Amino acid sequence: MRPPGADTVLVRHADIGVKSGKVQTEMERRLRRNIVAVLEDRDIDVEVERRWSRILIHADGDTVEAATDAATDAFGVQSASPAIVLPAEKDAIVDALSQTARHLQSPDSNYDLGETFAVRARRAGNADAHPFSSEDLEREGGSAVFEALEDPEVDLEEPDTTFSVECRREEAFVFVEKRAGPGGLPLGSQAKVVALVSGGIDSPVATWEVMKRGAPVVPVYLELGDFGGPDHEARAVETVRRLAEFAPNYDMRVRKVPAGEMMQTLKDEVGPARMLSYRRFMYRVAEHIAEQEQAHGIVTGEAIGQKSSQTARNLGVTSRATNLPIHRPLLTMDKSEITQRARRIGTFHDSTIPAGCNRIAPDFPETNATLEIAENADPDDIFERAKDAAENVELVEW
Ligand code: ATP
Ligand code: MG
Repeated sequence: MRPPGADTVLVRHADIGVKSGKVQTEMERRLRRNIVAVLEDRDIDVEVERRWSRILIHADGDTVEAATDAATDAFGVQSASPAIVLPAEKDAIVDALSQTARHLQSPDSNYDLGETFAVRARRAGNADAHPFSSEDLEREGGSAVFEALEDPEVDLEEPDTTFSVECRREEAFVFVEKRAGPGGLPLGSQAKVVALVSGGIDSPVATWEVMKRGAPVVPVYLELGDFGGPDHEARAVETVRRLAEFAPNYDMRVRKVPAGEMMQTLKDEVGPARMLSYRRFMYRVAEHIAEQEQAHGIVTGEAIGQKSSQTARNLGVTSRATNLPIHRPLLTMDKSEITQRARRIGTFHDSTIPAGCNRIAPDFPETNATLEIAENADPDDIFERAKDAAENVELVEW
């Protein structure tokens, strides 16, 4: 919810603040570019400015809502507030607070003020930068809001509605809402990684998590022939397409690698350790794609104990198939937590499109492998075939 006349979005960043000055400036520039990319992708015509340690989006009454939403989809954004901008003068600020309160309680604002409120003010700059203190703003602003509301009650600890003021040297911002962003770091501030996306619930969430920490992603899907199929592939592509909305300035087209023949070989020739060979093949394919794309790690949606190939011991064995680090952001998460996150980021629906496919997992899978067991189970040419498969990679256009 926004104050009447709000035309600016005040964007705060997350982990960037803990960096040294030079790194921080570089990251803020990057964040600005990424926000601009999301806004352009959604045809929202506004100006974006980097000022102090904030990013300001200069919108208007028609675009300010959509611009706030867009900003909160950029990795590295902590929160964004639609705000009104005023001269940094006490009377003007107090008046704006009062008008905002009046507006929010009017029936056509549709806003639920709750029962209690507080006014919070922050003032940047030297103690003598303004002829008033932030306490003055809170006290006088608080009284003005108290008078404006019909049935006011103050709660400074846990107010239902917070009227906020951020006062800079020459201008002040008044806002009510802090809409949460994903947090993390701006995309592109880390090296690229390959993400293995299967179109299930887990892998898109894992991919989102590393994007959130600033790493652009090269999505790789293994096309499993009779063990996958077009619906399976469609799930992978659709979930990645959703993720790409968070990164319109990056090439997130799915890299599709043929793996159907390998699957058939595993089914015909490998026994209880079949799923381990599948994972070892998969990581090696990912490693080759990483070489092609100058990426520096592999992301999967694996979690300890989620499946037989993901026991703590088996993860140790399968990981030996590659020299690249395998990042498993969901390692310790329960399925219910992962599902919740998938819903929040908007990949759940596409992950659950029915995709009837043949089963590859054996009835009695190996859960406690050693490297020796896995290596003995692997088809002799497994790694050559991983290399061949990676050379036959195809870009899925959308
Ligand atoms: P998800 O884990 O994405 O929900 P899933 O549960 O069907 O799908 P698992 O069997 O748990 O998949 O596979 C573990 C991980 O291996 C996946 O999270 C994904 O990173 C990777 N993976 C599995 N199958 C494929 C595939 N066909 N293409 C690319 N990556 C895959
Ligand atoms: Mg899984």
